[in-house]
Amino acid sequence: MSATSVRCKKCRKVLFLHQDFPLLDRHGNEIDKYSGEDSCPNQRDEFLWYLDPDKSPLWILSSVEEVGWTKGKIACPECHCRIGSFDFVSGSQCSCHVHALPSLHLVKAKVDVLSTQSVALLGISDGKQSV
Ligand SMILES: [Zn+2]
Ligand SMILES: [Zn+2]
Repeated sequence: MSATSVRCKKCRKVLFLHQDFPLLDRHGNEIDKYSGEDSCPNQRDEFLWYLDPDKSPLWILSSVEEVGWTKGKIACPECHCRIGSFDFVSGSQCSCHVHALPSLHLVKAKVDVLSTQSVALLGISDGKQSV
């Protein structure tokens, strides 16, 4: 069993698990289901991950609620480094003009997406498997 964790690049805190809150591409597809056959040419240079507001961690949603579902930044709950942002006001559209972009996004360069043993994530590793 392995799990994919999304971690803050700076402090390495596990922010959430992809299984719980799937990372999406700019068309709203889960990244591990992405076939590579999408016709959108913009997918390749994407520097953001997206999240569905209905499937987002509470600590992200509480910063969204704080500003009344307008727009703002997503910061790491541990080190407060900015890792992404959200915009529920204007919304934005993919430049292929077919899809609207999900409103929550994380900057790829600010987070690590890692496959790790779920046993290590639960903190019951035997010490040989440090994460
Ligand atoms: Zn952090
Ligand atoms: Zn597109």
